[in-house]
Amino acid sequence: VYGYRHVVYTRQALPHGLHFEAVTYDGPHVGARLIVVGGVHGNERCGTSAIHRVTAEIERHGIARGSVTFVAVANPLARAKGTRAGDRNLNRSLGTRSSPTAFEDHVANHLCPLLARHDVLLDLHSARSVTTPFAMVGPMNNEGTLEPFARAAEERALARRLGVGRFVDGWLSTYARAAERESGIGTTEYMRAQGGIAITLECGQHDDPEAAEVAYRAILASLAHLGLTAEPSPPQTSEIEYLGLYDVVVREHEDDTLARTWCSFDPITKDDLLATRSDGARVVAEEDGVVLFPDPAAPAGSPWFYVARTMPGELFG
Ligand SMILES: [Zn+2]
Repeated sequence: VYGYRHVVYTRQALPHGLHFEAVTYDGPHVGARLIVVGGVHGNERCGTSAIHRVTAEIERHGIARGSVTFVAVANPLARAKGTRAGDRNLNRSLGTRSSPTAFEDHVANHLCPLLARHDVLLDLHSARSVTTPFAMVGPMNNEGTLEPFARAAEERALARRLGVGRFVDGWLSTYARAAERESGIGTTEYMRAQGGIAITLECGQHDDPEAAEVAYRAILASLAHLGLTAEPSPPQTSEIEYLGLYDVVVREHEDDTLARTWCSFDPITKDDLLATRSDGARVVAEEDGVVLFPDPAAPAGSPWFYVARTMPGELFG
């Protein structure tokens, strides 16, 4: 039993009679400030159930140092509806707004300042299709203007201890990042822009109970690695499958069509046809790799799918 200095329960009113809820446990000594988020997408429940399980344990034992905040259901409207989004995807165009309109704008006005008060974000998600769990990390260190970053080593050291062996990084080209525009700002991009490190953990298929186990083990691993509990830091994953995101294809016209019903991690070979534009122009693979995060229903002007190349595991860092 570690005890703690104090616990802060936050409950702030949102539209539709819903609330933004968070709980923060402060340890008796100074240390890292971790925030764990579930339910950014309402139909993804693994993070929420893992958070409930861990908070029940922390209520009994406390934490050794630092602080940890849990947001079990980041998007309560989407959760109430059982859908990915309430009014819109919370994980796009994330930022505070002086005149919030969509439900998610109201959530963001509570979530963003909370993220900014922490050092490390673990954002827990699940997927529609059956996938190997994977962690998404940010770019390598760079001093560019679009996504400058200086903490890649710390971020990847944590990622390697979460219990998964597949990693995707978001090192998009300047051109690709510009094509995403502000829609590319989700929880992790927001967190890094505030000086923190951030990992999205895709824990498995929505309805697979194992996804909640993956999420639960990742939270405990994060607490241990960051020194919030006295447990030894978990061993690093040595078998690494590393994919480097390098481009985003924007749907330009509603008559643009995908070459087939792509699923994340579908392998592609250089020159494979990926999609056809409304004017007949072919979108082909520039390199061998995989398709990621296809959104067949993307509106014109929005990200449609991403492409990643297979990277040598030793380059992951
Ligand atoms: Zn998600």
